[in-house]
Amino acid sequence: MSGEPVLRVREVRKSFGDHAALDGVSLEVREGEVVTVIGPSGSGKSTLVRCVHQLEAIDGGAMYLDGELLGHEFHRGHLRPLPARKVAAQRSRMGMVFQQFNLFAHWSVLRNLTEPQVLVHGTPVEKAREEALRLLERVGLSDKAQAHPRQLSGGQQQRVAIARALATNPRIMLFDEPTSALDPELVDEVLSVVRDLAGGGMTMIIVTHEMSFAREVADRCVFMEKGRVVETGTPEEIFEHPRSPRLRAFLSRFS
Ligand code: ADP
Ligand code: MG
Repeated sequence: MSGEPVLRVREVRKSFGDHAALDGVSLEVREGEVVTVIGPSGSGKSTLVRCVHQLEAIDGGAMYLDGELLGHEFHRGHLRPLPARKVAAQRSRMGMVFQQFNLFAHWSVLRNLTEPQVLVHGTPVEKAREEALRLLERVGLSDKAQAHPRQLSGGQQQRVAIARALATNPRIMLFDEPTSALDPELVDEVLSVVRDLAGGGMTMIIVTHEMSFAREVADRCVFMEKGRVVETGTPEEIFEHPRSPRLRAFLSRFS
């Protein structure tokens, strides 16, 4: 694969107070590539994907989506923050799935999937419905279109959340521990949807604490600690031949 990566993160810094949650993180994700992010709690994994999705403003560095600067624009030779409308447009080119599914509880599944398309892209309602039903089929929930989120299991809700993130036809999908809020018996149905997306060539960053999944689904795996990327490599390099003592120590907790 060559050319411009879908996502480029360069030396990104983000602090909360005097705590550096991201301390100069760089990362590239190419078209069709699946990058998994592992690391101890508090290492900055969520902050990284939240910054990419522009739920958090960065303090330094830069991020590019298809070569386009995220969150800022040049104006008379200076960088200035993008107006909210343009940030929203950039955000709509990414799909994000959270630990907590964040579905609208008072809307049907179908409306959860149609509304973003109508609002974000101005898709006609009938077309948005067709797309929603196609996506529900893809995540195995064709029969739940009229259900409300509370009538679904956590695993089903998360599959709806994935379908919703896909509904705006994103360039990249960002997952932040999509299975960590689920009962163990519901984890597999969600991972299998994510696995299908990977097989279908979707470009993705997946933060996960499911080590075997992180290994199996990744083209490349990133190990973070204390706001930095400590090591990055193929799944085999990361899981079979970890170089840094910190990665070795981290992995030993799972064996
Ligand atoms: P991870 O997802 O790897 O567990 P996070 O990105 O959530 O880590 O957090 C990285 C660090 O930033 C942690 O020390 C966390 O306490 C801190 N942090 C994250 N979000 C906030 C916030 N909104 N306010 C203050 N501190 C935060
Ligand atoms: Mg997190």
